[in-house]
Amino acid sequence: MQKLLEFFLQDPCAFRTQYYLITKIFAQKFPLRSAKIETMINIYDLDLPSLTELLKGWNEPAYRAKQVWQGLYVHLYNSPERFTNLSKPLREKMMENFTFMPFSVKTFQDSSDKHTRKTLFELPDRNLIEAVLMRYGDPADTHDGPDARTTKPRRTLCISTQAGCAMGCVFCATGQLGFKRHLSSGEIVAQVMYYAQMLKKQEETVSNIVFMGMGEPFHNYENTMAAIDRLNDSEGYNFGARRFTISTVGLVPQIRRFADEQRQVNLAISLHAIDDDARVAMMPVNKRYKIDEVLEACEYYVAKTSRRVTFEWALINGVNDTPEVAKKLASKLRGLMCHVNAIPLNPTAGFDGQATDRQRAILFKESLEQAGIPCTIRMRRGIDINAGCGQLAGAASK
Ligand code: SF4
Repeated sequence: MQKLLEFFLQDPCAFRTQYYLITKIFAQKFPLRSAKIETMINIYDLDLPSLTELLKGWNEPAYRAKQVWQGLYVHLYNSPERFTNLSKPLREKMMENFTFMPFSVKTFQDSSDKHTRKTLFELPDRNLIEAVLMRYGDPADTHDGPDARTTKPRRTLCISTQAGCAMGCVFCATGQLGFKRHLSSGEIVAQVMYYAQMLKKQEETVSNIVFMGMGEPFHNYENTMAAIDRLNDSEGYNFGARRFTISTVGLVPQIRRFADEQRQVNLAISLHAIDDDARVAMMPVNKRYKIDEVLEACEYYVAKTSRRVTFEWALINGVNDTPEVAKKLASKLRGLMCHVNAIPLNPTAGFDGQATDRQRAILFKESLEQAGIPCTIRMRRGIDINAGCGQLAGAASK
């Protein structure tokens, strides 16, 4: 064990590659104990050094790894046959060893306005995760304009970082499901690749990626950051850091760590209440990290990165949507470089709160803005297809 640990510390990439190979050999020796898909390497789990090391073990020259990397992340090939620039034997080896789809599509739904698609994926261990594509700024879209920088319609992906979630927010269908497991970095990346490949057929690309699907991304910190690094790689998918948004319930140590790493990724905090008792009733995590502690961590983040923080506020009728609450919220946030995204609650079966109507939402926004805090009312998407996180998985598990 000591030797293994030393090996890992000396060269984590080589360790990972060896780990994959050992797992594979084990699975080959004991075929009945491992389903085929579990024995294959999810190709999106590999970073470029691991892929290079693995192909080196297959006696391939170093430049092959770059060819595979670019096939995956630049050309968005979704199967070994597509890599026609590689030799046939290598493609066959890739076919035997790699999976390009580490889950199956259990179901998908399109909203009636066709702006939102939600896909439910089933992992090899039968856990379910969801990823949602939201289309904004199309000519028929009367609510949202195109991307301010590119003037093109936006294609935002909302992806999962865990199967289930341990945070237990009462208004959230995933919280009601409980925690199942962390996703690997490759399972996170594969959700993006699935939609990127789909959009490519329509000559479209992903514009933004938000970590607001199932799970708390900071609870699965390492794998979430590894997925971001993989997608951000300039020789591969090259997805700009500023086009990612991480949404957290406010895990203070991780906010501070994120600030210290000075990433250019956007940070959003799900706040939803301004006094501790009210927030504990909605979000049990508040027992551990009180609101003031979360806001102090946000100040630290702004000081370290010079980037503003977004606060997510689910507007619940008669609970947290009054002008008085808005004024209290404004006085708490005063002096912090921030923005509030207010979004009428997505109703779930396990929570009896109701969404705020448009008029009350506008009053809330105006009260905040009069007190000097910028606020945007976000449109709810895909209500007719249970697009709130965890709703489809919850329905499918019943
Ligand atoms: S809102 Fe996010 S953090 Fe809270 S239970 Fe749902 S998935 Fe988890």
